Amino acid sequence: MAQCMLHFIIYVATETYCMVLFIYIILTTNIYGQISYICVTIKMFMKQSIRTFLSWSVFLTFFMSGLTVVGQTDEAFEDIVCKETNAHRHLFNPMLRSNLLTANYDLKYYRFEWEIDPAIYAIKGTATPYFKVLENDFKEINFDLSNLLIIDSIMWHGQKLSFSQPGVYQLNIQLPSVINKGSLDSLSISYHGSPPSGGFGSFIQDNHSGEPILWTLSEPFGAQDWWPCKNGLEDKIDSIDVTVITDERYRAASNGSLINEVNLGNQKKSYHWRHRYAIASYLVAIAVTNYAVYTDDVLLSDGKVMPMVNYVYPENLNDAKVGTKDNVSVLQFYDSLFVDYPFKKEKYGHAQFGWGGGMEHQTMSFVINFGWGLLAHELAHQWFGDMVTCGAWEDIWLNEGFATYLEGLTQERFRGPNAWKNWKSGKINSITSNAGGSVRVDDPSSVNRIFSGRLSYSKGSYLLHMLRWKLGDDLFFKALRSYLNDRKYGYAVTSQLQSHLESTSGQDLDEYFKDWYFGQGYPTYTVSWDQESNRTLIKLNQISSHPSVSFFEMPVPVKLKGEGKELLVRLDNDNPDQIFPVYPDFKVETVEFDPDLWLAAIGTVIKEDILLSSSSDSNPESISIYPNPATDLFFIKMNDNASVPVTWTLIDTNGKIARNGYITTKTDKVNISGLSSGLYRFIVLQNGKTIYNKSIVKM
Ligand SMILES: [Zn+2]
Repeated sequence: MAQCMLHFIIYVATETYCMVLFIYIILTTNIYGQISYICVTIKMFMKQSIRTFLSWSVFLTFFMSGLTVVGQTDEAFEDIVCKETNAHRHLFNPMLRSNLLTANYDLKYYRFEWEIDPAIYAIKGTATPYFKVLENDFKEINFDLSNLLIIDSIMWHGQKLSFSQPGVYQLNIQLPSVINKGSLDSLSISYHGSPPSGGFGSFIQDNHSGEPILWTLSEPFGAQDWWPCKNGLEDKIDSIDVTVITDERYRAASNGSLINEVNLGNQKKSYHWRHRYAIASYLVAIAVTNYAVYTDDVLLSDGKVMPMVNYVYPENLNDAKVGTKDNVSVLQFYDSLFVDYPFKKEKYGHAQFGWGGGMEHQTMSFVINFGWGLLAHELAHQWFGDMVTCGAWEDIWLNEGFATYLEGLTQERFRGPNAWKNWKSGKINSITSNAGGSVRVDDPSSVNRIFSGRLSYSKGSYLLHMLRWKLGDDLFFKALRSYLNDRKYGYAVTSQLQSHLESTSGQDLDEYFKDWYFGQGYPTYTVSWDQESNRTLIKLNQISSHPSVSFFEMPVPVKLKGEGKELLVRLDNDNPDQIFPVYPDFKVETVEFDPDLWLAAIGTVIKEDILLSSSSDSNPESISIYPNPATDLFFIKMNDNASVPVTWTLIDTNGKIARNGYITTKTDKVNISGLSSGLYRFIVLQNGKTIYNKSIVKM
């Protein structure tokens, strides 16, 4: 956190200095002789001003929120989030979704040929997109591209085309004749210049140990800063070829497989990378410096060996080798837990870069160092983020919540129970450090909000962890596999994930997503308990931290302990002041709320006199149930003298709660499908008092 904040302060200071410098240049320039220069300067000045304003507002917000998280045990995680957030921070652009002007064609393929000198902040090259026309009367084609880049030529079937750059991020190309709907066509755009970019930009030139490096990082809105693209989240390119020409002292890293490196003479070399999987525009990336390169072999679950290709600074080679070797085990773990590694015909890899911490470029994550958490997080994005990409920035948790949770799963799998517990308590501390905030990004124009560590990362990961608790491991992981297979190589939104979870589990999750995805805040529970002979009553109360959610319907885990024994019960808490009878075969000494940290919640336990009457049936004739025995459901009928509401509980022969509910009408039915056959006790309580307690047989 400290290192991250320092970088940020330097960034803001640099931006402010640039702004002052530009004002100085404008004021001291001969206006009549320098009009074109001033136009560019003003444009840059305005960009800088907007950025600086945003930087300061972001800084203040960040600093304020930083205060609330100080003291968390989860510093390494906060560091990852901070680095990812800063890496994305500069990329504010009002264009949040796809440009409608680019909706009339489907991108099929790109060939990129770039010349890069990592010592110079510039790009020069040609992009050749292949596209399928989707509408009639297709006479022009538009791309998202910064107008600070200079177009050298646009060629179509050997013909030079005319074009204009009417907007800050619009390239409009006039076609000499209409291209028919359904046709596949292509054109080549040659361009050069210095892309717009701030201190953490989409296109960055920097140094490490005195050696120059140049890298790109486009998420979320920055691809258009350096290549002609569709900048939104609707149209993945089906495949790409990337050729980078640079000085022979350097190596270029990119997406896919390295097909060849060719000596071109004049101390120049070309590196040709080929990627034959669909890719979102923000995941196309290059990095160029004096990399040392080595490969770790990864034995995948299908028995084949795939390379993990690592491009690292020579000065960090030893550290890198330790970190990437560990990450081989993580890749094998994810590969067996979900669906196969999505790009297994090519590679996974790492390219070291100077700032930003980590970015999950497809098949080649860019990382600042080789720490366990960072590598596990970026690798997880290959499934959640790259293969299945969030379909809107408001759903960034489908990338970041998942990557964070998967990193947590590696703590559970590899790092021991304490590390896993620390991971969970770190996330809960982060989530509950502020009363409000939803997982859904309520302001997708704010990069800081999109990449909120507390909401998109921590709370997003806990949204998943709580689903795992609700559904159980089998159904949870099965549903995720179904989601990944369905949305493979495409985009997804939250409702699509929800429908896979629902169809796999048979549970209606509307209320859950209403509370935990759209809603803000978290519950604080008070668990009261009392014991009389063999019966223990547990009462659950909860207070929501935010008015957007009045009540969080959740299964609440509570552990009873005593006489060297323990009983973990799962209380389906769907109403306020709900009382649950539990029948442990020991004298209860302590009660623990959520001992395994399944819930993003706070809980306190108190011993309280809640046995309002004796445990004997007070008026057994007031309720009848039928049929008994029952198969999938039975009915409850209460006579005229009885009053509602009441709570009911089905207890199995082990004393565990099999099902429970709450009724407000005098006739109702209880669904017992899915329960195993046998004897159950059906207990109805009113204000903590037992008004019915009889056996029922499930056939
Ligand atoms: Zn991430």
